[in-house]
Amino acid sequence: MNRKKRVFITGASRGIGKSIAEKFIQSDFEVFIGFKDKKIEAEELASTGNAYAINIDVSSTLSVNAAFDEIESSHGSIDILINNAGISQVKLFEELEDDDWFNMLSVNLIGAFRCSQRAVIKMRENKFGKIINISSLGGQWGGIHQVHYAASKAALINLTKSMAKKFSNEGICTNAIAPGLIETDMTKDELSSINLEELESQIPLGRLGDPSDVASLAFFLAEDGNYITGQTLNINGGIYFS
Ligand code: NAD
Repeated sequence: MNRKKRVFITGASRGIGKSIAEKFIQSDFEVFIGFKDKKIEAEELASTGNAYAINIDVSSTLSVNAAFDEIESSHGSIDILINNAGISQVKLFEELEDDDWFNMLSVNLIGAFRCSQRAVIKMRENKFGKIINISSLGGQWGGIHQVHYAASKAALINLTKSMAKKFSNEGICTNAIAPGLIETDMTKDELSSINLEELESQIPLGRLGDPSDVASLAFFLAEDGNYITGQTLNINGGIYFS
């Protein structure tokens, strides 16, 4: 490819997505920073390099199509899609309602599907693509405080395998990353309510993860990792092996 590769990261105005965007901005990529509501933060981040802020709500097919239309008409097709946008919700199993499930699945699972369905159209024409789904340790070992979150992330791992089966022979590698506990806005309430020292003592590497740890792995999969597809890569300090 004799042009800069284009990477689109959803939910990239903060947290893990922002760290992933920073990693690509520091390298030779054209970066599209998906944001749902933190426009100013996304634009500030974009101003640091060869990057553009793109409004996208992955729970809406209309919004997903508008975001891809905007990128494709002004720049061209996406080479690497990172489905990072996600929500969590701490709620007792006994109190979960249908809408809690629908919202969770619409963002964490169907959101990744919507973006991937759109991205693969051009990736198939180009016979090249990388899709990276940010799943979770919770999707591997379950979660008692947010069973719908854990289920959505388990389903995302399965979607990853199905897409790898369907598209790898057309040059599209699809993989999932399963982070353990990473310090971000998503986890700050949980982390402030527990004994951090005790938790860290249970993690073989003795610390929580940093968003930049996940960014390094996403970058490796995008830049190298050309014989890796259908896999779930754990990044959890050794707290879970599979
Ligand atoms: P975060 O809450 O800081 O970031 C989530 C991002 O997703 C935000 O930018 C938010 O605006 C965006 N988002 C939410 N709903 C959206 C929608 N409908 N459309 C588009 N964007 C939307 O949390 P984070 O920790 O950075 O999480 C990033 C990803 O990593 C998530 O998928 C999360 O489930 C996953 N993850 C996080 C951890 C952790 O410990 N922090 C662990 C495992 C997996």
